[in-house]
Amino acid sequence: MESKRSESSSTDSSDVLWWRKLWSLPIPPKARLFVWRAFHETLPTMVSLNHRGIDCDVTCPRCTDVMESCSHAILDCPISQMVWRMSRFWKVIEKRRTMSFADFLRITSLEVTLEDLALVCWLAWKLWCERNKIVHGGEEGDPQAIFDLSIASFGEWQALHRAPIQSQVVGSDAWSPPQSGYLKLNIDASVFPSSDHIGIGAAIRDDKGSILGAVAKSVEGSFSPFVAECLALCEGLRFAKEIECANIEVETDVINVVSAVVDNRELSMEGPILEDVKQLLAQLRSIGIHHIGRSANYVAHLLVRFGFNSNCTNVWISETPSVVSNAVYIDANA
Ligand SMILES: [Zn+2]
Repeated sequence: MESKRSESSSTDSSDVLWWRKLWSLPIPPKARLFVWRAFHETLPTMVSLNHRGIDCDVTCPRCTDVMESCSHAILDCPISQMVWRMSRFWKVIEKRRTMSFADFLRITSLEVTLEDLALVCWLAWKLWCERNKIVHGGEEGDPQAIFDLSIASFGEWQALHRAPIQSQVVGSDAWSPPQSGYLKLNIDASVFPSSDHIGIGAAIRDDKGSILGAVAKSVEGSFSPFVAECLALCEGLRFAKEIECANIEVETDVINVVSAVVDNRELSMEGPILEDVKQLLAQLRSIGIHHIGRSANYVAHLLVRFGFNSNCTNVWISETPSVVSNAVYIDANA
C-alpha cells in the first residue's frame, strides 16, 4: 500500500524548490507536517476516511452542508471563511476557494512573502485544530476569538524563536512603569522587505501597568524602518491625544528616532514627519522620548504583529487586547 504512494512524489525541480521553501518556513514542525498532509490530501477528513474504506458520512461535521475535503475544511467551510475574511489574505483566498489545498498553497506561495506564507500555513493549521475540536465533541469557537488567538500565538512563536538574543536581556531591560502622575506610551513598527504594507502598534499604560488604550494597524506602502517608526510614533501620540491622555513618557526600541527627536537634527526627507512628532509631544506635555531594549517593548511589538496581519485598524480603550494580556501581566508584575 505504501509503495504505491511513492509514485506521487514528484522529482520535478520546481517541486523540490517548493518543498524546500515549505521546510524553511518559520513555523513549528507540527504545523509543517500538517501542511504536508493537507497538501497530499492525507488529513483524516470525512472524504479521506471514506476513501480509505471507513464507513462514515462524508458530510462536513461543521456545516453539515457539503462533502468534507481538505480544501473545504480549511478554506471553504463557512467558519473557516469567516476567519480568513478577518485576515488580509482574504483577497487571495476568495479567488481560490474552489481549488484543491495543494494548488491553493502552490499559487499563494508565489504571491506572498515567506513571512506571509508562514502565517497562511499557521492559520490553516489552527483552523484544522478547531475543526478537530468539534469532531471530538467540543464546541464551535467564535471566529473572532479563533482569529485573535491564532494571530497572537503566531506572534508569540515568532518572537520566541526569531529574536532569542534580545529577548533574553531581562532585568534591567524589562518594562518599567512611568513615574507617578505620568502615563507611558510604548510604540513599535515592523517593516518586512518585499511587503506592500507595514505594521504599527502603540500601548498606553498607567503606573500600575494597566492598559488605558492600545492601537494595532497596518499601513499600506513601503517605508524605511526609520519612517515606519516615526509613523507609529505619530499614530500613538495622536491616539493618546484622542483619548485625552497627557503627561506622557514615550518609549521606542529604535535609537535613531530618539536621537532625531532629541538632537533636533535637520533631516530633509523626514523633516515634516519629525515636525509632527515634536508638535504632538509638546501638546501632550510629554517629558520625553526614550530608547529601550526590545524586550521592554514587547507589548508594542506584539501589537505590531497583530496589526501587520490584520486587515483593519484595531483600537482598544480601557481594555487589554487579548493578544497582549500575558505580556501586560508579566510587565506589571516584573
Ligand atoms: Zn463545512
